[in-house]
Amino acid sequence: MKYELNEYHHNLNKNELIEDLQSVSKKLNKNYISRSEYEKSGKYSATPYIRTFGSWIIACKSAGLKTTRNKEDYFHISNDDLLNDMLLVSKQLNKKNISTKDYNNFGKYKVQTILSRFTSWSEALTRANLEQTCFKVINNNDLFFEIERMWTKKGKQPTSSDIKNGLSKYSLNTYSRKFGGWRNALLAFVEYINNNEDFEEDIVEKFNIHNKPIEDSKENIVIHRKTSRDINLRLRFKVMQRDNFKCCACGASPAKDPNVELHIDHIFPWSKGGETVIDNLQTLCSKCNLGKSDIV
Ligand SMILES: [Zn+2]
Repeated sequence: MKYELNEYHHNLNKNELIEDLQSVSKKLNKNYISRSEYEKSGKYSATPYIRTFGSWIIACKSAGLKTTRNKEDYFHISNDDLLNDMLLVSKQLNKKNISTKDYNNFGKYKVQTILSRFTSWSEALTRANLEQTCFKVINNNDLFFEIERMWTKKGKQPTSSDIKNGLSKYSLNTYSRKFGGWRNALLAFVEYINNNEDFEEDIVEKFNIHNKPIEDSKENIVIHRKTSRDINLRLRFKVMQRDNFKCCACGASPAKDPNVELHIDHIFPWSKGGETVIDNLQTLCSKCNLGKSDIV
């Protein structure tokens, strides 16, 4: 949108307004032009239209344009447009979680459009990186997952100040409600991580004794595995903690460089029969992990 002097706006007549609206419609090759679309591509703001015609819809009617979106126009709004507008409303209201009612009052699009695009409000909030409104039940696992993410990001125990500074996607209050304080949340997390230690050692032992590859024919080796390829949160955290939240190959860490992403890698590839146990796992940054293949 080009900003023009106020005096100039005062002199705008209906024809000038209609002309520019029609030229935007031509330029975008669309019969339906929303206010925001006009403001992006038109000469004026939407205000003189509303002042002159009474509403945006009447202005569009007067210009011979359509006043409702058809399916094609609807798909013209990208997912990012919707998510960005949700973020804008969240900023405007200074709230990390916005309800459908908030969005209805302050958003640019229809709540229905967002719902039909993302199947649920909760899903849309997740996609926009916003907090869930209270109707979504946040369970302990969600919070442990988030604590683990923060811990990895910092390379050390996250503090309540980190959360106040916006490191967590949940508020401090959410942790307090669940665990009765941030300290207790951390204690619960550590307890969760340390749980099932015996179970894991059990697996290692079985692996050593019974899980030797058995020769099936001269060429084929039948692989017997005790563990699944998936690395659960508990194991992932233990591996990262053992490796000091750093890449074992190059030493990169998210604490030093926020762009570094840590992965957990099977040292002896799972596809070749390697197990998902702590001794066969290592922390690698995404760069080093990509450089490593399954060839041993
Ligand atoms: Zn690395």
